[in-house]
Amino acid sequence: MLANKEISATAITLKYYDIGESDKIYALFSREYGIIRAVAKGIKKPKSKFSGRLDLLNVNELVIREGRNLGTIVECESYKVFPLLRLDYDKLIYSLFLGELILLFSNEGESFEQVFDLLISTLEAIQKADIPLIYIIWFEIQFLSLLGYQSNFSECDICKQKVAEKNNRLGYSLSTGSIICEHCLKITYNYKIIDDSIKNILNNLKYIDINSLSEFNAEAKNLNKIQDVLKEYLSSLSERKIKTLSVFDN
Ligand SMILES: [Zn+2]
Repeated sequence: MLANKEISATAITLKYYDIGESDKIYALFSREYGIIRAVAKGIKKPKSKFSGRLDLLNVNELVIREGRNLGTIVECESYKVFPLLRLDYDKLIYSLFLGELILLFSNEGESFEQVFDLLISTLEAIQKADIPLIYIIWFEIQFLSLLGYQSNFSECDICKQKVAEKNNRLGYSLSTGSIICEHCLKITYNYKIIDDSIKNILNNLKYIDINSLSEFNAEAKNLNKIQDVLKEYLSSLSERKIKTLSVFDN
């Protein structure tokens, strides 16, 4: 970063930390530069011009003056807000969890427009969703695929054979995020047992469009099971326990 150069970015607030008496440091995810960390000076003072705008999950048009280690937010105009996420505790926690995933898997300064657009459209959809967990699982599958992790939910990851229908003893590999057939379970490890209906939900969610998710039917127990295995896979990929994910354990 060149000191004193100014950049413009459209960015969503994913996290912040208090610093000193009146400042906050923000972790922002921008369309143009990926993750940006920047300080908002004086934001805790009642008369701050940024007050409220930089709240979690708000999207703003920002001007940031680059610094040696950390940028400084000098302008901030509201671009998009998701008011309905704040009215529902589950939706809010799920949405913050998506932000946590992006922070874990993105590199600072590296633009990832597709993930930015994926996040914004998912948050918009979650606002109106009856079953937000479907959207979270859908996001995780699409996100992993954009990151280059190609999960196979129709053929066995080891023998490459198509997995037979009505098979209630399959594996979900925590090493590759793909399906393992009953026979190959004997020659591998690091998997969770799943059944045919879970495999089918994963496979369908991989190819479905976000606009069709409102009509997607799945039993709550299956969705919870899928979130459990995806959570373990994502945690093992990131090599550390994802904090917000512990919310799902309760
Ligand atoms: Zn196999």
